[in-house]
Amino acid sequence: MTLASTSAAAAELPKARLWGIGRYDLAGQLVYFEVSWDDWQRDVAWARAMLADHGVGAKKGDGEVGGGLVIVGGMPESPWFDPFETAARELGAPYSIGEIYGFEAFRTGMYARRLPVTMIFGIDRTVAEGLGDELADVVARVPVIVARPDAAGLLAEAGAAPYIVTLVGPAIAVECPYRSGAHLNGAEWTLAERGGELFLSTAGPRADQVSQVPVGLRGTLTQGECACGRTGQRVTITE
Ligand SMILES: [Zn+2]
Repeated sequence: MTLASTSAAAAELPKARLWGIGRYDLAGQLVYFEVSWDDWQRDVAWARAMLADHGVGAKKGDGEVGGGLVIVGGMPESPWFDPFETAARELGAPYSIGEIYGFEAFRTGMYARRLPVTMIFGIDRTVAEGLGDELADVVARVPVIVARPDAAGLLAEAGAAPYIVTLVGPAIAVECPYRSGAHLNGAEWTLAERGGELFLSTAGPRADQVSQVPVGLRGTLTQGECACGRTGQRVTITE
């Protein structure tokens, strides 16, 4: 028995129908959603293009460090963040996981200090606050910070110019380097805004189909082609 023979045998085993089940909180109610393997694969491809646009990749030559990232996401957030971890691996970029609890903030800080980290992806307000006085130092060291909307103000005060990543119900939206709102994967999702509130529908062949469901967020939508070449919707969360 070898690693190759074991891997080959494992690949032949029947696969579970689902990659996983996610859940999010909507005004105190837990909303569950299924993610199929095909969903996950398409999410990885999309995440990979977004990360590549921000310069994530293998280091380019001897003596050149960089490309490493810290992905700040909790275990229950895997349906949104695992595709970015997988994409980072596919791009050949080393990454570490920072947790989203206040007492785990030091982890994000430590990685930023000790490793050649060029991107922090997903930092939220809890972690930004948890870094305390260290936040300005972390911001000064890391060229690309992609933050949740609740952390953007604090990071800007600390000297960063963060890009935005936001969970939108079962979907995720990420700002590209052109800073014109967080891109939604239009092949998978469509957002509608009514009276400032956001409603989500599936556009792709996802395991979990939704139509015009509220996501508990207020925001504005931008349509049309972005300078990065992507078409489709960008979202800016307003609260
Ligand atoms: Zn763009």
